[in-house]
Amino acid sequence: MDKWEIYVLKYAERTNALKHEHFLFTDTHNGPMPMDYFIWALKNEEGRVIIVDMGFEEKEAKKRGRRLLRTPAEALAEVRIDASEVEDLIVSHMHYDHCGNAHEFPKATFHIQEREMAFATGPNMKHPAFRDIFAVDYVVDMVRALFGDRVEFVDGFKELAPGITLHHVGGHTDGLQVVRVNTQRGWVVLAVDAIHLYANIEEINPFPLVLNVADMLNGYSTITNLADSPTHIIPGHDPLVLDRFPKVPGAEEFAVRADLTPNHWN
Ligand SMILES: [Zn+2]
Repeated sequence: MDKWEIYVLKYAERTNALKHEHFLFTDTHNGPMPMDYFIWALKNEEGRVIIVDMGFEEKEAKKRGRRLLRTPAEALAEVRIDASEVEDLIVSHMHYDHCGNAHEFPKATFHIQEREMAFATGPNMKHPAFRDIFAVDYVVDMVRALFGDRVEFVDGFKELAPGITLHHVGGHTDGLQVVRVNTQRGWVVLAVDAIHLYANIEEINPFPLVLNVADMLNGYSTITNLADSPTHIIPGHDPLVLDRFPKVPGAEEFAVRADLTPNHWN
């Protein structure tokens, strides 16, 4: 089975977020708790590359008050990956901060859960509470990709490549999927938005942007079972990831390797 390198690449941030915005069950202790925005690149020994998610663009960043630090394609270029040559791109879910920039990946096939496409184009989008976190242009990009024969659907589980499997967990959106990756230190799980921050799973306190709380809590169990240890679980938006894992030489400011043993765990 292939062993993969995992590049965690930060492309944007939200520095004005407050703690109570990240937890369904809140207490009186509030304060700043910033959020980072990432994409993830997987690379095997033969140089095959698979990308997880594609971020948002400047237009959406401005609209939502986020700070775009570099485009996802620029972040990839810094670790010597050419976005325009990428052939496989896993879309964890179709929220605006994971599903933009399709034009930067003109050769990519997008791997999406069936339920996510149905959710993002179906009756639940009548509700602003669910709809507002999607960007209609990015959803339409995926519909265009489908009509261009560039979408591969996943029905729950799929082995995408030797050492890479996709697992539906739902909860945050109806069709959210996580990515299990075989690495030199064992099975790592890219939880993406099934776990925004380490504290969400450590305190069993879900992120409040949730479609189904039971599915989200069951997702924590699924992810725990899929990962070799808590240090093998990579949350989707936690600034601690950049702090805990070894930095990528030449891209120290925004890129770390999650296939390597963490430098520390506190
Ligand atoms: Zn999301």
